[in-house]
Amino acid sequence: MAGIVPEAVRKLKRRFGSEPADLYAAVGPSIGPCCYQVGEDVVRAAEKLARTKGLQAASFFPQQEPGKWRADLPGFNRALLLSEGLKPERISSSGLCSSCHSSLFFSHRRDAGKTGRMAAIFCLTGR
Ligand SMILES: [Zn+2]
Repeated sequence: MAGIVPEAVRKLKRRFGSEPADLYAAVGPSIGPCCYQVGEDVVRAAEKLARTKGLQAASFFPQQEPGKWRADLPGFNRALLLSEGLKPERISSSGLCSSCHSSLFFSHRRDAGKTGRMAAIFCLTGR
């Protein structure tokens, strides 16, 4: 909710002259909307970020009951990437919930913080 996705695209543009339409993005395994319930503070922060990008946060944070919402972070991040100018066909997503797949992934929320870490490796290539 701090706007890391838009900021990453802006930095790639500024520092390396990247064109958003040329970028590829991968949304790795993360907790999915099936398992991620959040409170009003997260939803309000998402709404604030979404407004700056012309997005509707409610699409990614449906309310479940008073004071509780489901969070589709992979979907929200995809929408943010699209709002920054990435092409849909260049955004991939694992579609895997790290909380549901305990044999494959660590999950901070599922394991109440007693967990390992996941890592990703990236590289910039010339044209
Ligand atoms: Zn799940």
